[in-house]
Amino acid sequence: MTAVEKALEYLADYDGRPISIMEVCGTHTAAIFKSGIRGLISGKIRLVSGPGCPVCVTAPGYIDKLLGYAMAPGCCVLSFGDMLKVPGRNGSLQSQRGEGANFRMIYSPFQALELAQAEPNMEFIAAAVGFETTAPAWAMVADEALKRGIHNLRLLCAIKTILPAMELICQNEQGIDAFICPGHVSAIIGADAFLGLCSQYKKPMVVAGFEAGHIIAAVYSIMLQLKHEQAQVRNLYAEAVSSGGNIKAQELLSRCFLPGDADWRGLGQIALSGLYLQGEYAALDAGSLDVGSEGYEDPACRCADVICGRINPSQCPLFGLCSPTHPVGPCMVSEEGACGIWYGNSEVSE
Ligand code: SF4
Repeated sequence: MTAVEKALEYLADYDGRPISIMEVCGTHTAAIFKSGIRGLISGKIRLVSGPGCPVCVTAPGYIDKLLGYAMAPGCCVLSFGDMLKVPGRNGSLQSQRGEGANFRMIYSPFQALELAQAEPNMEFIAAAVGFETTAPAWAMVADEALKRGIHNLRLLCAIKTILPAMELICQNEQGIDAFICPGHVSAIIGADAFLGLCSQYKKPMVVAGFEAGHIIAAVYSIMLQLKHEQAQVRNLYAEAVSSGGNIKAQELLSRCFLPGDADWRGLGQIALSGLYLQGEYAALDAGSLDVGSEGYEDPACRCADVICGRINPSQCPLFGLCSPTHPVGPCMVSEEGACGIWYGNSEVSE
């Protein structure tokens, strides 16, 4: 019997107290569905989604501000595709195209530089959204914009850091027993970044990759820790994640950004959980600190409960009516959003 088979046998036969394990990152949610792990392990082990999809946690007010820029004369918003579909108070950017919303979809932050340089008479606002994984690319864009003297590009930042959100969940969501830590973010911040939370809240935290074997090993490691009443950080993704993380990326982030309070959909305002352009880079900011906490959310949408791991997407009364082609909330829009992933795998999830 291989190590993975042995782990799976243990997880399938588990009959102890119900356990909830939060996979913080949406890419893990997608990998869990792809591998069919949920159907292979005991029903007493619940795998729930967390706040690691950047589009899902972006505050509603941000969408409204972005649309405001898209409607302003002489202004063009640059954004990844999923953010364009998130509904705000006056619709999504995509739905307002016929009303005059001016935007372009980009596939990489660096495209923003080329577009701004090619059209110097247009003011470009880039939707700089993401976690520590994407933040270094936005920092490089800001750096390069200054070096090239590009004056018609600004960043509307909704860049967040994951540890403050995980801490809030540790404090508020008593039902979460352990975490599968986000693999990509961990590559930047390092596995040791979770040591403080792990020891303070006594919850196992395992850094994992995205193959089925990685996730099974992570769940098995967590279950063994819980069985022995241990709470440790384990790095099972050593091929990509070191203890200290990517020092060069961390230095770049420290140089370009300053931590500040940020509004999260579903979690509210979290102190020092956002990254904002600082120093000479601050001139490139498009009012990221003035986004405002108010914004439109459909009252029946349960994205907040999904993001906090309180419910699975199929428990939302709108699930099905809300779909990737007619999204009500951001969790249905993004490729990393739990609702969209559940919808796309609905036979598996039933
Ligand atoms: Fe929101 Fe749609 Fe998910 Fe319900 S199914 S929580 S409405 S995104």
